Amino acid sequence: MTSNNKWIDITSDIQYSPDLFCIPPHYNKDIKSVLIPYGFVKDRIARLANDIVNDANGPLNVCCILKGGYQFFSDLVAEIKKIRTINNSSVPLTYDFIRVKSYINTQSSGNVKISLSEEELRKFEGKDILIVEDLVDTGKTMIELLKYLKQYNPRSIKVACLLIKKRENQDYPYIPDYVGFSIPDEFIVGYALDYNEHYRDLDHICIINDEAKKRFSI
Ligand code: 5GP
Repeated sequence: MTSNNKWIDITSDIQYSPDLFCIPPHYNKDIKSVLIPYGFVKDRIARLANDIVNDANGPLNVCCILKGGYQFFSDLVAEIKKIRTINNSSVPLTYDFIRVKSYINTQSSGNVKISLSEEELRKFEGKDILIVEDLVDTGKTMIELLKYLKQYNPRSIKVACLLIKKRENQDYPYIPDYVGFSIPDEFIVGYALDYNEHYRDLDHICIINDEAKKRFSI
């Protein structure tokens, strides 16, 4: 595990046995390893919230990307509100929820579906938007989403993303403004990230084994 100025690098040599953590019994047989324990995720989010508040120039319209971004959104907003109480900083928040789907099994479908009504999108005009996303892999989802949202003339759009995937010998295709961790090229679940809708209710960010992938494949 190393660090640069922008995020924490989680490398594939550090993976923890699930036996060292509390795993819901219904997932006991499925977890190959714990990649990022929940407590570590929360500690990193506290700092991201701090950075976001320091950079804010007024009210923020925070857009949660569903479903995978909901846990990150919830913890991030809670931390921003905590800073507000401690520092008396005044960043009013409004919320939007955008449903985006691009993955089937462990593969990007390449076909990004975005759901938000025209009426809701028009309200973005002149606002500072903070997109809260779980993970950037190929970057296709975020690049498409940003292109789409920019048509509605927000004053600014920034992206907070908990995880970015590092593919071997490849550059990051897209780098968000705020990043929690860089992770190796593995399919991960937990902390609201799913495998065909399973494992969202697991707190730690984990790698599942091949039997689990087979069992819940569609
Ligand atoms: P991209 O378009 O950047 O390839 O993929 C972004 C989206 O795909 C993320 O928002 C996330 O929902 C999903 N995704 C990418 N990699 C993973 C992964 O390892 N696990 C899970 N559960 N979802 C992933």
